[in-house]
Amino acid sequence: MKLLENKIALITGASRGIGRATALMFAENGADVIFTDFREDENSQSLVEEIKAKGVRCTFFAADASNHERTLEIAKAVEAEYGRLDILINNAGITRDNLLMRMSEADWDLVMNCNLKSVFNYCKAFTPMMLKKRSGSIINISSIVGINGNAGQCNYSSTKAGIIGFTRSLAKEIGSRSVRVNAVAPGFIETPMTKQLGEAALNEWLKAIPMRRPGQADDIARTCVYLACDLSTYITGQVLRCDGGLSL
Ligand code: NAP
Repeated sequence: MKLLENKIALITGASRGIGRATALMFAENGADVIFTDFREDENSQSLVEEIKAKGVRCTFFAADASNHERTLEIAKAVEAEYGRLDILINNAGITRDNLLMRMSEADWDLVMNCNLKSVFNYCKAFTPMMLKKRSGSIINISSIVGINGNAGQCNYSSTKAGIIGFTRSLAKEIGSRSVRVNAVAPGFIETPMTKQLGEAALNEWLKAIPMRRPGQADDIARTCVYLACDLSTYITGQVLRCDGGLSL
């Protein structure tokens, strides 16, 4: 039996990067996959095809994860079509890096809404379904900069630290109903998000990574499979660092 056979998973911001790799790995492991992203484009269309080719169901919703009303619409549609949700992965995230001296209020608000309000939106909309059937796994994608901080990322690291507080609080609220809530804290992972930093930045980060390689999206996807499946049935409220030792 596959690790996620008969499970229904929703992943936000999954058209590319970590979300895409996770969506594909979940489908390979037998899960039906619902995913969201800002807009329908060739990335979301090809992902739907690739997931369905693995023999599982797939639905895509174009949605800004920071939009509360849209999240409630998606929850209604998922309940109508699938009847329940077993796994929620809050992955959508952006950066708008700058030193605090130069950071605009607009970039502070945008990052707060995309990265942190989105977690509130999806957890609020989907936990009732999980509580009703007394099982579920919620995985929130944080970052090691939410633990250690990073110059130029006051906005981003605040959201990632906020996700950790949110994760631990919700784990305490709903653990008695067997719904688990954990966070994953990736280190430096090669995705479109980090590609924009360039070769020099990558080489700087590499010096600090004990495993001497950047992480790949599949490294995070495997961590999510572990936290979603029945190999982690007694783990909740935890922050699992997946960083090749970078934060040691
Ligand atoms: P990515 O390659 O930029 O992919 C992020 C995806 O999320 C994109 O498809 C993006 O859509 C979508 N998205 C962003 N904001 C959204 C919103 N408000 N509503 C809906 N979709 C939204 O980034 P990634 O590297 O895979 O990162 C995934 C998660 O891991 C993020 O939460 C990030 O903070 C976290 N993380 C990444 C790293 C790393 O080194 N890469 C390290 C630590 C944590 P568009 O394509 O339309 O922009």
